[in-house]
Amino acid sequence: MRRLTYRDLLKYDALVCDIDGVIRRGRRVIWENVEVLLHLQGEGKVIRFITNSSSRLPEDHAEMLRTIGFEVKETDIITSGKATALYLQKAGIKKAYIVGTIALRVILKRHSVQFSPKGEVVVVGMDPNFNYRKLKRASSLIYEGTPFIATNPDASLPVEGGVLPGAGSIVAAISVAAGKKPDVVVGKPNPIIFKEATYDLKGKMLFIGDRLNTDIAGGNFAGLDTLLVLTGVHTLHDVEEMGIEPTFWISNLKESLSEVS
Ligand SMILES: [Mg+2]
Repeated sequence: MRRLTYRDLLKYDALVCDIDGVIRRGRRVIWENVEVLLHLQGEGKVIRFITNSSSRLPEDHAEMLRTIGFEVKETDIITSGKATALYLQKAGIKKAYIVGTIALRVILKRHSVQFSPKGEVVVVGMDPNFNYRKLKRASSLIYEGTPFIATNPDASLPVEGGVLPGAGSIVAAISVAAGKKPDVVVGKPNPIIFKEATYDLKGKMLFIGDRLNTDIAGGNFAGLDTLLVLTGVHTLHDVEEMGIEPTFWISNLKESLSEVS
């Protein structure tokens, strides 16, 4: 692991970025990173986005990214919801009991997976309307042997002024009730989501993220070079503590322009 320089960035053909903690923190744009990425996109680098969030559709993220200046198509963004939908579609699944947002239901339906109270699988993502009835149905189905698919493992979501419980907290509640862990967790660090985001890209790729256990571990495992930016969740101290090492680190992308040792 070493500190990133701007010259390092120029060696890559594609930069694949996490959104929360890299592009935005809560509602605040992280311009120290965004300005450099916008410049690199202007120079012809391919920029893609991977987010473990399943509560918004790719086109919603695309719209947000356009308002801050990126040129993006809906297909430049892979959410854990979309990766889950593609995974189920490839497995030939048609019916799922879904614990999640409307956005998750919509993206699954686009890939021919319909909501059903008696699903062939149980899909669990972030659900702000999670309740005892949903916990009961999901855990009963899983207890009876229905495969258990989680969109992403994130326990919480950092926001200004605290944290919000994430999909991982809901997955944990259902796991405890059913006495079973998920069969598949689709989001980062699972290589499934990295493969879906990069399958058509050529050349050298760098994955940029703020979380060691999802972004960096997943990027490393998927065979990409990785960059830890310190604008989100994890610090250099965590690198030692968690034993997950990126290829590079930098406080923020703008810092790569200064050649301090
Ligand atoms: Mg992040």
